[in-house]
Amino acid sequence: MSECIFCKIRDGQVPAKPVHRDDVCLALEDINPQAPTHLLVIPLKHIPTVNDLTVDEREVVGHLYLTAAKLARQRGIADSGYRLVMNTHRDAGQTVFHIHLHVLGGRPMEWPPG
Ligand code: 5GP
Ligand code: ZN
Repeated sequence: MSECIFCKIRDGQVPAKPVHRDDVCLALEDINPQAPTHLLVIPLKHIPTVNDLTVDEREVVGHLYLTAAKLARQRGIADSGYRLVMNTHRDAGQTVFHIHLHVLGGRPMEWPPG
């Protein structure tokens, strides 16, 4: 059995608040939201980090972005603005090693990030 928390959520072994699911990805509310809207868009396929992506997975990555944009429209933050973040390894603060796109919005955000 997978030890990955997002694989467990995908497989229904850990409860989550899904807001979207299709044949490539799922999206859910972050358990520790950092903004009024904080969603995670996660590929169904287990890919540990951006460094592990292959050319064959480029459509998966594109799909994550298109899904994020659709969810931002649904949440009413498409025009006010939102931030898409995919952390990679220690210095970026990656804690779950199954890639995921953070969708953050609903408040102004600092740039550059800390
Ligand atoms: P990272 O630090 O890897 O970029 O982001 C991991 C994110 O996953 C964090 O924002 C954290 O709050 C979220 N997270 C970790 N475990 C769970 C969980 O079990 N359920 C949900 N919904 N989010 C989680
Ligand atoms: Zn996984």
